[in-house]
Amino acid sequence: MKYEAVIGLEVHAELLTDSKMFCSCPVVDSTQAAPNIAVCPVCAGMPGVLPVVNKKAVEYAMRVALALECEIAHLSLFDRKNYFYPDLPKGYQISQFEYPLAQHGRLLIHTAGGEKEVRILRTHLEEDAGKLTHVQSEDQSYSLVDLNRAGVGLLEIVSEPDMRSAEEARVYAETLHSIIRYLGVNSGDMSKGVIRFEANVSIREAGSEILNPRVEIKNLNSFRSLERAIVYQIGQQIEKMERGEAVVQETVGWDETSETTFSQRSKEEAHDYRYFPEPDLPPLVIEQEWIDQVAAALPELPLAKAARFEREYDLNPGIAQQLVQERSTADFYEAVLRAGPSLSPKTAAAWVTGELSNWMNQSGECCEELRVSPAGLAELLLMIQQNEINQTTAKAVLSELLQTGGSAIDLVAAKGLKQISNAEDIAGMIQTAIAAHPKELASYLDGKETLSNWFFGQVMRAAKGKANPQIVRAELERQLNHFKGNPPS
Ligand code: ADP
Ligand code: MG
Ligand code: ZN
Repeated sequence: MKYEAVIGLEVHAELLTDSKMFCSCPVVDSTQAAPNIAVCPVCAGMPGVLPVVNKKAVEYAMRVALALECEIAHLSLFDRKNYFYPDLPKGYQISQFEYPLAQHGRLLIHTAGGEKEVRILRTHLEEDAGKLTHVQSEDQSYSLVDLNRAGVGLLEIVSEPDMRSAEEARVYAETLHSIIRYLGVNSGDMSKGVIRFEANVSIREAGSEILNPRVEIKNLNSFRSLERAIVYQIGQQIEKMERGEAVVQETVGWDETSETTFSQRSKEEAHDYRYFPEPDLPPLVIEQEWIDQVAAALPELPLAKAARFEREYDLNPGIAQQLVQERSTADFYEAVLRAGPSLSPKTAAAWVTGELSNWMNQSGECCEELRVSPAGLAELLLMIQQNEINQTTAKAVLSELLQTGGSAIDLVAAKGLKQISNAEDIAGMIQTAIAAHPKELASYLDGKETLSNWFFGQVMRAAKGKANPQIVRAELERQLNHFKGNPPS
């Protein structure tokens, strides 16, 4: 039998507003801050306190929902999701259940197999839990509770089970990650757990429409774990089916070290959350006017930007894709073009995705931190375009500027790096090089044609790399050809 995988993802993204979802505590980086410095009676779950909805968090959630083409509900409700765990001081999480903020959206993804639409089931608001650190030593065992993260706004985005491979699931997650970053609602820093995934996986006969029982993989914190865990689950489920066993609904965890999943609870042990409407919060009413305002203020999203770059700057899809991955890189690129309107957009794109992104990967700097401004890069590229310096010199200059800052024009002038394009000067250097190597000239004339490249190298070296390579090639060929007709005596 031929199988196909059915995959739906639940994505949790922290909303990086200034304050928490239902109180005025600041949102701090929970991987850096001292424990429990951002806690008040509301997020500590004290009795008798009242939550208040953070308007900015609602706006952030609307941005994402609108970017995913969801319908925003004019009226949605907050519910209590009851469960006991030490990182959840109230004993319940405020979430949305029956009447979520938004529903029925879609996300377009590009995989090796082409473009695909994944439907979004719902997008709703909730609050994050605190962080537990379990300490285990020989003589004691205890857990530390840090509530800095408790009550931070959390957006849950639930897809329809539309993905058919681990790769599609990974690309969906990456695409969503990029959009959330573009919208400025989340830092996108996966290592800090600000975006987390849960994957629901089932298997069925290829082409069938039925939905079989699913296994839910909890708490996946990287694209890599997401993809690996799904691949593993698909394999497990196919093996089970082949053995004639049924896959039963269960929740599993992912073990990073062994790269296997382990069972956490079966369907029978599933939590009964006893959802009911949060009595301390009124219904969330959103007027059309506000929706329109948020929609109008959405930035251009990565997919649209890539399409525009291809069209407007005649870039190939791969390069456009690379440029738009980070909004700051795309902005940098367009700022270069604005600073140098006569620059070739393709050349500028090649430098940004080549030299510049190599440097950023190495140094860990982002575009905003570079010592070279868009105008500075434009100045350098214009010098190449106007034949004032060649590629090799330009790379060396850029490398120095990235380390020390300064201006390309000044550096080229100070170091005397200007390209030699004067035809007479170049002809003279070639004459000198040929005259200094009579043996090589003789072999060349004997038929060892590859020596013309060797002579090219000699001339470039003598010019300290600064000679215009096109002119050198042409003139060298002319002089060597001349010797063919009149060999030296
Ligand atoms: P729950 O809270 O039980 O996890 P949700 O509605 O939040 O329920 O999420 C269910 C997720 O599981 C959705 O992403 C949905 O697409 C996915 N899903 C539902 N049925 C299946 C199935 N048979 N196989 C794989 N994924 C499924
Ligand atoms: Mg779930
Ligand atoms: Zn608080």
